[in-house]
Amino acid sequence: MPELPEVETVKRGLARKIVGKTVADVEIRHPKSFADDAGLIRQVLIEARVVAIARRAKILLIELSTNWTLAVHLKMTGQLVVIQNSAKPDGFVGGHSEKVYEGELPNKHTQVIFTFSDKTKLYFNDLRKFGWLRLFPREIVDQTDQRLTRSLRTSSEVNEHLLGGGCCETRQSLDNQTLESFLESLQLGPEPLSADFTEDYLSKLSQKRSIPIKQLLLEQKGISGIGNIYADEALFRSKIAPRRRANGLKRKEIEELYSAIREVLELGIKHGGTSKNTYRNVEGTKGKMQDHLKVYQRTGKPCIVCATPIERIKTGGRSAHFCPTCQK
Ligand SMILES: [Zn+2]
Repeated sequence: MPELPEVETVKRGLARKIVGKTVADVEIRHPKSFADDAGLIRQVLIEARVVAIARRAKILLIELSTNWTLAVHLKMTGQLVVIQNSAKPDGFVGGHSEKVYEGELPNKHTQVIFTFSDKTKLYFNDLRKFGWLRLFPREIVDQTDQRLTRSLRTSSEVNEHLLGGGCCETRQSLDNQTLESFLESLQLGPEPLSADFTEDYLSKLSQKRSIPIKQLLLEQKGISGIGNIYADEALFRSKIAPRRRANGLKRKEIEELYSAIREVLELGIKHGGTSKNTYRNVEGTKGKMQDHLKVYQRTGKPCIVCATPIERIKTGGRSAHFCPTCQK
């Protein structure tokens, strides 16, 4: 699954390509990928202009002129491809890249196709189909609008039926369906690159918990957007072993970990994300962050500081890569 720097990279790429464009058509080839009511989708999207692209944790937020936001989660294998239909084709790929995605579009893994008024196409490809698109009003929808209310109710039923315990099970009544309430329901912690994430916050978060620090870093309700790659790298930089109890860290270590988290995420964004596994960044090229990873997926290779072989252990059900000499 892409982490914060990878999704941020897709966000910036999409912003360059589709902001200002107006949606002319939407084709849904796999309804489960976009489980809102088909009538609602057309009503909200057709003739809507893309005004901005935002991000919250690993969720892309495509803000529309209709006061609705299209939320997109790439999950394990999701990919967004923009093909600009002009004399000089100018494509872009963001998200995962699978061998089966290569070649002409649409292909059998294309789940949703957006066509803009200038003929630009946005393809949502998803091999494993865990990714999702959902529409959320940015404000409470006027419930006297019978047509929209009916669409929303249908959408909610469809959602419960199709997604079960999926992305949006909290979407139950008309009162809690705004984008804000949806994001609140996910109980996401602060963005680690925002002003809300402070040393004091990390200190208080750690003091309350006796779980391994690696596990705490992965909990999205504590800090949002960090996954295995950046957690391992931040712990290496701060010389903290992944199995250390969160509440056993000294203030000095918290300070170092805090700086390391921000540094590795900023470095990840600077290099266009990591292209381990299947992730690929914008403009169809691979991100370069993998060339700067010091422990992640370097099991058995010498530590760049002390030459001790990097070890891989399991903690909290996830793997952790670390240097047993440098990290205590
Ligand atoms: Zn070392």
